[in-house]
Amino acid sequence: MEHDTVDTIVDLIGGKGQRQYGLSSVNQRAHALQAALLAEQAGCDDALIVAALVHDIGHMVHDLGEDPAADGIDDRHEELGAVWLENRFGPAVTEPVRLHVAAKRYLCGTEADYFGRLSPDSVRSLALQGGPMSPAEIAAFEALPHHEAAVKLRRFDESAKVKGLATPDVEHYVPHIQRCLGA
Ligand code: FE
Repeated sequence: MEHDTVDTIVDLIGGKGQRQYGLSSVNQRAHALQAALLAEQAGCDDALIVAALVHDIGHMVHDLGEDPAADGIDDRHEELGAVWLENRFGPAVTEPVRLHVAAKRYLCGTEADYFGRLSPDSVRSLALQGGPMSPAEIAAFEALPHHEAAVKLRRFDESAKVKGLATPDVEHYVPHIQRCLGA
């Protein structure tokens, strides 16, 4: 399983990762690698670096096409990704992935200027995902054990859409993945 998991992640990000990332100017591969690099540069632990790398893997394990949001479909990629990951990793990896869409709704509900920082694809999907959180939803979110990591991941996600930015290759993260699998 361990070897398979590493290979599958490397293959998905290197292969299906060539798909465009919604409306944005980077593909899934560049988006994943930029998110992981931001987590690494912020001094995050292995689990959050790996979570950042694979946070959109749910977009790569479904067959809803390249851009389901264009058809008004919420692909629920955060849940698909978390379910795929939870057979392989612990909650420090899976829960920030599961919560990264909720974290966008949370940040839009708690920070006045957050909405203005969303990319066009994130604005479009926000409506499909339920819009900014209500006060009751905010309180429920803050009670979840991994919500702070999910908020950090979300901020990396928002920033990981820079066209042409140089990053390490996916192979750079193999040791991080292996340490999380062994943990
Ligand atoms: Fe993302």
